[in-house]
Amino acid sequence: MAYADLAHEELLALKAELEEAYGELKARNLKLNMARGKPGGEQLKLSLPMLDCVTSDGDLIASDGTDCCNYGVLDGIPEAKTFMAEMMDHDPANVCVFGNSSLNIMYDLVAGGVLYGYSGEPAWKDQGTIKWLCPSPGYDRHFRICETLGMELIPIELRADGPDMDKVEELVADPAVKGIWCVPQYSNPTGTTYSDEVVKRLASMPVAAKDFRIFWDNAYCVHDLYDETERRERVLDIARTCVAAGNPDRYFKFASTSKVTLPGAGIAAVAASADNIAVIRKRIGTETVGYDKLNQLRHVKFLKDRAGLDEHMKKHAAIIRPKFELVVNTLAAELGETGATWSTPNGGYFISFDGAPNTAQRTVQLAKEAGVVMTGAGATWPYGKDPLDRNIRIAPTLPPLEELEQALEVFCCSAKLATVESLLA
Ligand code: PMP
Repeated sequence: MAYADLAHEELLALKAELEEAYGELKARNLKLNMARGKPGGEQLKLSLPMLDCVTSDGDLIASDGTDCCNYGVLDGIPEAKTFMAEMMDHDPANVCVFGNSSLNIMYDLVAGGVLYGYSGEPAWKDQGTIKWLCPSPGYDRHFRICETLGMELIPIELRADGPDMDKVEELVADPAVKGIWCVPQYSNPTGTTYSDEVVKRLASMPVAAKDFRIFWDNAYCVHDLYDETERRERVLDIARTCVAAGNPDRYFKFASTSKVTLPGAGIAAVAASADNIAVIRKRIGTETVGYDKLNQLRHVKFLKDRAGLDEHMKKHAAIIRPKFELVVNTLAAELGETGATWSTPNGGYFISFDGAPNTAQRTVQLAKEAGVVMTGAGATWPYGKDPLDRNIRIAPTLPPLEELEQALEVFCCSAKLATVESLLA
């Protein structure tokens, strides 16, 4: 029976039962982690041979003759640009391949707006309080960039087809709104892929700020969990859609190989219009003499091209698919009566869990006290404040299956107990 329909005495009895089960789980002294979207050891092993692709006795010269061991080339060796352009579905001429982190590029481009501005407009630091649209639940590190730079973060409901576009269109009539974060495919944490309609509205909506930018973080563009075409989700390309709408400079597109090869040791890229790329090149050229070209070369030698990338991603999927299915099946078996809901993603790295209102913090606390670390409750919302205190991001990839099973037992018991406590409160 649904917990919400139980009588007071029934809830008390259920609470006692759950407390006993929780006590037993706690006594196991577990130390497990479902907090961050890190690949597990088996996944990392897939890319270790990449480290042997660049050796002292090998060919270390890029296709344009650049010696990858030396300074030279700011925005990526040609073969790395071609590779990332294929991954990002973009013209290689307008792709820059930089260092090991796309988040780093995003930070630089938001900071670039603050310090220097875009589209000939004054720097954002000279335009009063800058506002930023944050589809939520979303990626905490995106929100933190804007918060750190003193902006006002505005949560926008993330629906099954993308951000609430009526709200977005209303808010961009304010010239202080300068940007929006988008993870358009297999979104972090909900697994949402934006509909064509949403992409078209984002590209074509009238915006008051000439220097408005869509930060299109397509971090999970090749991260399918399933082979079947009907389960493979693809988002409409923002670049072509913006061009068609007459707003070619509206977007910055990002991707990296962090969850393709080795997180922290991958390659990251930004793709944009020719005019935006010119601005980016100039600004980054002040920041660095150039990035790690040996790593770029290593990646291309290892993954080769789009076909090689797709083959490699299938190996990841084979490892992590059972983990996602274990989570979703366990939640369905255990938490149906609590009123909780959760996403069943076809790709990406996360499952988004919505417990009963006012239970997320307590659930995470209970899980932690029983040795299971989850992403902090609230982290998926701007300022870490989930208005309903219900969303929890589940990251299933790091623990091996057996550990994940134990962690889920703790999580489900914690969520049930938190729900009963809140109904009794
Ligand atoms: N964007 C999203 C949506 C992510 O989930 C992550 C990693 N969790 C990143 C960016 C970070 O990517 P990178 O390692 O390229 O900085």
